[in-house]
Amino acid sequence: MTLNIAIIGAGPAGYYTAEAALKRWGGTARIDIIDRLPTPYGLIRAGVAPDHQSIKAVTKRYEATNLGAGVRFVGNVAVGRDVQIAELLAIYDAVVLSVGAPHDKPLGIPGDDLPGVLGSGAFVGWYNGHPEFAGLQVPLSHHGAAIIGNGNVAIDCARILAKTCEELETSDIAQHSVDALRRSAVRDIHIVGRRGPHQASFTTKEMGELGHLERAQPLVKPGDLPPVEEDAALDPGDRKTVTHLRNFAATPRGDKPITIHFEFFRRPVAVEGNGKAERLIVETTRLEDGKAVGTGELHAIPCGLVIACIGYRTATIPGVPYDEGLGRFPVDGEGRIFKGLYASGWARRGPSGTIGTNRPDGFAVVDAIGADVSESRGGDAPAALDALLAGRGVKTTHFANWQALDAHEVSRARPGAPREKLVSLAEMLGLIG
Ligand code: NAP
Repeated sequence: MTLNIAIIGAGPAGYYTAEAALKRWGGTARIDIIDRLPTPYGLIRAGVAPDHQSIKAVTKRYEATNLGAGVRFVGNVAVGRDVQIAELLAIYDAVVLSVGAPHDKPLGIPGDDLPGVLGSGAFVGWYNGHPEFAGLQVPLSHHGAAIIGNGNVAIDCARILAKTCEELETSDIAQHSVDALRRSAVRDIHIVGRRGPHQASFTTKEMGELGHLERAQPLVKPGDLPPVEEDAALDPGDRKTVTHLRNFAATPRGDKPITIHFEFFRRPVAVEGNGKAERLIVETTRLEDGKAVGTGELHAIPCGLVIACIGYRTATIPGVPYDEGLGRFPVDGEGRIFKGLYASGWARRGPSGTIGTNRPDGFAVVDAIGADVSESRGGDAPAALDALLAGRGVKTTHFANWQALDAHEVSRARPGAPREKLVSLAEMLGLIG
């Protein structure tokens, strides 16, 4: 039996699902990995920080999957625009939505629509050269920047703002961002958390890196740290992370020009300014049953840039049920939306975990497909998709096109950098011909 499977989204969740399907059905399945961008790798290319190249090396594994028998990358195809989900369900035996969670969770406070207030998806997309955010206006002329959230995305954003251009030059950060950051006036970066150091979801390596920045010093108020004995209750990883915070609190103030202020126990309540963000108003909190409760005490953090790093939502797709409360597709325990339609990765379980957390997801979904689909409906699904898209004038890209584009990006890289990304869709498609 030749199973026809469409995976929507060429990020880690999509590739791990393809890998699991290849493992289960070998060359007897036809697997199309469809993405709205002409380029593969999703979050690895446009989400993982550009100065974390070792994490990006996982694309070698996805490349091997793409070269597997029966596997195709089909880029520049947006499901819901170029092809509908009902059409895919009619062509393929199973459709897996591995579309991630690209939309920023709204801050939902007065002033959050002022110029200068950005979601982390937009800011991260900007520095990573995502075509959708290449033209983003990032105000960097104010000395203050506020980053809301106590997760690793907040740390990534702070680190990119804090690093020197020389520190960034060897990364694959978008050239437009290096140019803008070179002129940046940001000197005080405030990482605002509504709870305390023990409740933060930073990880150890990311926290440790902040202690080794050329021109920036992290600052923690000793009074925000719980008594040291309480660290014993943390799991070992969190304990190491909190130890970094304790070290930051104990380090005398040096003469580095940039300060990364950890603002624990501060809840954002408003962004204020005259036609643009000029300050973030925060309320001091205390913990009650692990929850942040406002005390009524307000402070203003002067800043021209506010980046909300508070989580993401999956995009809706016409014809697919959506759970508004959870911000993703409703699935059963195996990632099934309904028989024939599945979700994996952040579209299945929300925006949490490391890249590798998506791997078991892929295997679970493939098990569900195996249980549901005992017989293929037959037909050559890739040929049917190609005919449908050609009839609509959609110009698709394939893995060989990506390999050419990849070689082009590598060839034009700054000295010491792995690549210089193309950031315009027109330029990418033009290069492909
Ligand atoms: P996260 O770890 O879930 O952190 C989100 C933060 O936003 C939390 O501190 C949360 O506070 C806060 N928050 C949520 N709603 C808020 C609100 N309305 N007001 C104020 N604060 C609010 O998410 P993330 O940083 O976006 O990261 C997503 C996933 O990607 C995580 O699993 C992360 O570890 C992973 N990631 C990993 C790396 C890496 O390994 N290098 C890099 C980036 C991301 P509460 O805790 O109080 O809810």
